[in-house]
Amino acid sequence: MEDQIEITLCKNCRAIISTQAHLLQEVEERDVVIFAKCSVDVCKDILVSNDPFDKYCTYQQLLCNSCHYPVGKIYRALNDELIYMLNKYILNKNTLVFEEKCLNKKREQEELEFGKIEVEIDVKKYDPLMPDELIKYYGK
Ligand SMILES: [Zn+2]
Repeated sequence: MEDQIEITLCKNCRAIISTQAHLLQEVEERDVVIFAKCSVDVCKDILVSNDPFDKYCTYQQLLCNSCHYPVGKIYRALNDELIYMLNKYILNKNTLVFEEKCLNKKREQEELEFGKIEVEIDVKKYDPLMPDELIKYYGK
């Protein structure tokens, strides 16, 4: 069982946003990383970009679900050149922190200190965008 994963955190409040397992691609010239799955809030409003890079493309803003800091975009319509970004989570690298985490060890350590950790999250009711590793981390 693999217990070392790289997690992606919100730079502002350090809430967990995703893990390396869901990282699809890094686009250095745009300073973004593309994820298949994330635990973020998606704004309802569909906006139209004015940026020369993605002008007239439509997107929804992604917010950290803990501190509501804007961390990226999810596109709903794109030009041909950027079509590979469609319906994926495009996160700004400068709003994130990347860290290695040893999940089982951390959990064991916490259990030694605080006793058996109860499952805090009802997965069935939980955000469908929550990556599997994080569900494992919080409990099954
Ligand atoms: Zn945050």
